[in-house]
Amino acid sequence: KNFNSLSLSRPVLKSLSDLGYVTPSPIQSATIPIALLGKDIIAGAVTGSGKTAAYMIPIIERLLYKPAKVASTRVTVLAPTRELAIQVADVGKKLSRYVSGLTFGLAVGGLNLRQQEQILKTRPDIVIATPGRFIDHIRNSSSFNVDSVEILVIDEADRMLEEGFQDELNEIMQLMPSKRQTLLFSATMNSKIKQLVSLSLRRPVRVMI
Ligand code: AMP
Repeated sequence: KNFNSLSLSRPVLKSLSDLGYVTPSPIQSATIPIALLGKDIIAGAVTGSGKTAAYMIPIIERLLYKPAKVASTRVTVLAPTRELAIQVADVGKKLSRYVSGLTFGLAVGGLNLRQQEQILKTRPDIVIATPGRFIDHIRNSSSFNVDSVEILVIDEADRMLEEGFQDELNEIMQLMPSKRQTLLFSATMNSKIKQLVSLSLRRPVRVMI
């Protein structure tokens, strides 16, 4: 089984071929078709499983097939650390290199706040953020909000809770439209994750590899 059987668009298939990805990893095979249907997903996936592409591919497909009429931030990916956020943005850019006009923005701690503000003002399609810095932007900026978000990804949810981001996550989800798709990835499942899932996901499909 290869990526051609997942009914993906030509630009995405082309970027996958550039990257040398031929066969979807188990998490990708399981997640991509469900995510393309717009369903919420809770996925058990560790680093190295190919989880980043597992959510980036369906996200890019969605943005490709339903273009926005005005610049708006339609996807938010929350990651526990700046390093992971930067990696996710890198994968996203590589997978969308043949999709014209798709824009990315980072909102992470340790990088210049004003500079990020200028970028967020342009309403990038996909914003990749760490929760603390993301909240700062939402609270302090009159020109950025999360009203237009259609897809929320919570990557490494267990690490996010370990880092103490529970309150930030709750606040962000409260501010986002309730009619959205949420994809949650976590290496481990415990009662705190289950609590987060019940707060943030609607009738999620469970994918455990
Ligand atoms: P991740 O779990 O998202 O951090 O990905 C782990 C590594 O696997 C990264 O170096 C990816 O570039 C690579 N990778 C992801 N999906 C595939 C695939 N389908 N085929 C080959 N390599 C992949």
